[in-house]
Amino acid sequence: MKDLLVEYEGVSRQTVNFDKSLVYFSSNVDDRTKARIGDILGVRISSNPEKYLDLPTIVGRKRKEAFVGFKERIMKHIDGAFNIALLAKQAWRLLMKPDCLLARVVKSKYYQSTDFMNAQLGSYPSYTWRSIWSARRADVVNSLFGSDQARRVLSMPLSRFTQEDEFLWQGDNTEEYLVRSGYKWLVSNTGDGTECANTSQNNELRVFYNRIWNLKLANKIKITFWRIANNFLPTLSNLVPPRVATSSWCPVCSDAEETVKHLFCDCAVITQVLNALLVPFAPSNNTNNWKLWLVKEFVNSSLDKCKLWMVVFWAVWFNRNSAYHEGVNQQAYGIVAFVKTYMQELDCLDSVLQEVQRPPCSIWKPPEGFKVKANLDVSFNHLTYKAVAGVLIRNGDGLIMAAGAFSSFQWKIPSRME
Ligand SMILES: [Zn+2]
Repeated sequence: MKDLLVEYEGVSRQTVNFDKSLVYFSSNVDDRTKARIGDILGVRISSNPEKYLDLPTIVGRKRKEAFVGFKERIMKHIDGAFNIALLAKQAWRLLMKPDCLLARVVKSKYYQSTDFMNAQLGSYPSYTWRSIWSARRADVVNSLFGSDQARRVLSMPLSRFTQEDEFLWQGDNTEEYLVRSGYKWLVSNTGDGTECANTSQNNELRVFYNRIWNLKLANKIKITFWRIANNFLPTLSNLVPPRVATSSWCPVCSDAEETVKHLFCDCAVITQVLNALLVPFAPSNNTNNWKLWLVKEFVNSSLDKCKLWMVVFWAVWFNRNSAYHEGVNQQAYGIVAFVKTYMQELDCLDSVLQEVQRPPCSIWKPPEGFKVKANLDVSFNHLTYKAVAGVLIRNGDGLIMAAGAFSSFQWKIPSRME
């Protein structure tokens, strides 16, 4: 027997783990034989067949009985999900087609004065109504979002402009609910619901937001960018459905429908601007979803590039607004010049701020006796080539005896001016 196993190991290149192995004997083997076999093979002897991965290790003649528990558990899982998926279909019908016969009958009986989403269970609910009602509560509302997402959705401030709510089935983001997609969704989302939150995607989002908010940029630019990323801008394609705008054609290039993706990725103007600034988007990024596309682009680029893109987006949106409202449409080079100047000013502001924040290197002490002390400093502006010098003369009591300031365009090196 042992030789057979050794041969099997050689041929199959698989090793038997004797530590994890167990020998089970039928009742007519005596104890001495059992012990001997156990010694030779080096495995444990058991009188009770254990379960391995929840499956019986010995099936025997009663095959049906051996698997009955296992089968029951699987069926219960499938049944539960399938039933809920079917019930959710009925709940969806009541929600989407309030005029259908079923909806009218159920409404007249259970929620005459309100709608399906606000209906109470009532005091004598039928089995059907109780099932649909619980499917609505537990599996349409809560299951639409994971617990974390649901909390975030509820804390979201709503628009001041009232608009009819629209129900979309999360399974495939349409108004159509399919039992198939409901079942698929339930099976892949059993448990606490956090599985639906894609962890790597969440990490990327966190990096993305950290990068944006930590950049040294005016809040108006950051907020405009955030609205762009989330498609919260009044682009024409966002305005056309509620009939605020009559046409959704891009007011900048008139070549395509104006969506955020068009304005900030596909439009001829943004492409020209980004090429001129040598920061085009990666051609390899083919993520379909606009926000995820943007996140990917920003997470995989340097901070300087992200900063420049955000200023470009802001300038492009500004230009789009003047094109739409005032008919003033800048060429790409106008936007490029604006962005370059703005970035230069930002750099300049940065260096000024660093200058201001420089800590004092020593504490001033008055001169001894009747001596005077003169302190002077020169600063130089690299953009205007202007140097300014200041001098302060103080006596032993620390009182100012004389002070003066001089400016000059001649000395381009601060030390020579001093
Ligand atoms: Zn365009």
